[in-house]
Amino acid sequence: MAEEVIGESLANAAAEGESRAHSEIFSERLLVLLDDVLAGRAPNAGRFCGYCYHPLAPERASCPHCGRSTSEWAPAAAVPRAVFAMHRRRRGREGLVVRTIAWGGLTIGVIVALLPFVLADVTWWSVLAFFGLLFGFYVLSANLANSVGDALGYRWGQAIVRREWDKFRAARDGVEPHD
Ligand SMILES: [Zn+2]
Repeated sequence: MAEEVIGESLANAAAEGESRAHSEIFSERLLVLLDDVLAGRAPNAGRFCGYCYHPLAPERASCPHCGRSTSEWAPAAAVPRAVFAMHRRRRGREGLVVRTIAWGGLTIGVIVALLPFVLADVTWWSVLAFFGLLFGFYVLSANLANSVGDALGYRWGQAIVRREWDKFRAARDGVEPHD
């Protein structure tokens, strides 16, 4: 039963990876730039789409990500602070989910690994079982964190960005949320 659930989550995670590119508000290039600016590796300056802030080459008259023209949406010289704020919250949430699953799995592993000592005396096999169980749970939780945790974190992070982007657009463009 548990294996079925995990298998299903893994399948969902794989399917999600394929659909990620299409559900993103921000382009892949902008996401990389946001990470770089937040890490202090790049300056927040350039020419960006006035709608979705995809980095635009100087000669570009329309955005390759959202398709909007620069005549209708005047290019921006920097990415707004609010976009960085939502991106930081998104990355924070993604990391939180992954860490929670990794540490949660390890904690359960330590408890389970200690059971042989509780139920039986300390012998060579209970010591062996302790390290075996610990190692097994370590591998399991690392894998779960990277597959299920990554997928769940992504979904949760996306929900944050979508909600905040709606609010941001309401303030910027005067459109109703969920436009
Ligand atoms: Zn755009």
